[in-house]
Amino acid sequence: AYVYIKDVELRYIYVNKKASAYYDCPPEELIGQKDDSLAKHYTVADQVTEATELSDRRVIAHGETIEAIEKSYNQLKGRVEYYSAVKQPLYDGQGQIVGLFGVATDITAHKLAAQALQQKEQYLSAILDNVGACIFIKDKSLRFEYINRMTEDTFQVALQDVVGKSNEEVLGDIQGATFSETDREVFTTGDLVTCLETFGAPGSERYYWTVKAPLFDQHNHVESLIGMSTDITSQIVLEKQLRSANKALNQHIEEIEALRAELEESAIRDPLTGLYNRRYLDEFVQKEWSRSERNQDPISVALLDLDRFKVVNDSFGHAAGDKVLVAFSEMLSAVARKTDVACRFGGEEFVLLMPGAPIDVAVERAQQFLREVEAMQVEVGEVVIQVTTSAGVACYPDDASSFEGLVAIADRALYQAKKSGRNQVVNSAQLAINAED
Ligand code: GH3
Ligand code: MG
Ligand code: MG
Repeated sequence: AYVYIKDVELRYIYVNKKASAYYDCPPEELIGQKDDSLAKHYTVADQVTEATELSDRRVIAHGETIEAIEKSYNQLKGRVEYYSAVKQPLYDGQGQIVGLFGVATDITAHKLAAQALQQKEQYLSAILDNVGACIFIKDKSLRFEYINRMTEDTFQVALQDVVGKSNEEVLGDIQGATFSETDREVFTTGDLVTCLETFGAPGSERYYWTVKAPLFDQHNHVESLIGMSTDITSQIVLEKQLRSANKALNQHIEEIEALRAELEESAIRDPLTGLYNRRYLDEFVQKEWSRSERNQDPISVALLDLDRFKVVNDSFGHAAGDKVLVAFSEMLSAVARKTDVACRFGGEEFVLLMPGAPIDVAVERAQQFLREVEAMQVEVGEVVIQVTTSAGVACYPDDASSFEGLVAIADRALYQAKKSGRNQVVNSAQLAINAED
């Protein structure tokens, strides 16, 4: 400390070593001098000297003890310095003030550090209060140490009201617990935790992308956490809208696809029996014929026509006739193999196309089918209707090179089956013999 004594005229009458070193001159040269003359010599600003003189005079005149922070200019170091100074009056035996006694401690370093700190704190709080995020600090027991202005606004709380309080105390048990869970994770893992958090009443909740980072003490233990939450509600809402729009779109696409498939299916199906129609058969043949040609695979065709069907219609009515056609078709579908095409060719005429089947296999299957039709009983109200069918069978490549040619041969065989008493299968070979006849 600098220690000095001045007389009532404010002339130095004692200075310690440190005080004389301040002016860089031996104590004996300082004795008898006043601050203002020394100050002129050292070009100290007038106000500084005036302030010192003013407080000195108050001690001398009023006997005050003054404790103050004094500012002075150190010529040697070329800087402003701060002193914590105490000045007391000195009395003689009669109680008369004869001077003052001063002690001053250089607090420049402390003062500058405090100023720098204050400035940094100002910067920091300006940043924290104006950044577009909620920032908060919590201690080990998950109690708030700090919240920035945006957090105050978001949660409708004031910093001084939340300090020392837990999440649950500030935000309620349910909401608080969700925040506490990820807070706790920071302390248990000592690691950065990122999470999506929600806040607010259902329907009007807001979404936050939150980063919580540990703050360590000098022993590297997690002492507190600092959290930063960014409001990403608009992105989330947009994302949700996009997702639901996408879902609706996909639903529409599925519906359209189902409709399209239905339409496509209905275009190739006979509405009464559900069998393929002639159009499909033609398309199928167009696609498959060349393949069979290449592989030299046989293709058999059975042309089927119900016997005396007019009689069925006339006796039981057209609706009953329809029922018989449906039952007949179900039976035809049942005998059809996976690769076969069962088709309603028109009216009560049907085609079973059997790719890969040679004539004898096709005839055998047609005969089997005729026996099943014969045994079939179709109940219509009180009556039971029984029908028979005739069939003409032909086979590629022996009988014809085109599908149309094949059908023509099968048609002739069918005609012959009718002529020969119905309920029978006639194949192309029999037709040839008969033709020769
Ligand atoms: P057959 O073939 O044995 O010589 O005698 P048929 O009585 O069956 O003779 P034809 O083939 O000339 O007659 C076919 C009949 O089938 C005529 C028509 O009334 C009937 N028919 C055609 N299509 C349908 C239909 O969709 N529903 C009903 N109920 N009858 C149909
Ligand atoms: Mg017919
Ligand atoms: Mg007929």
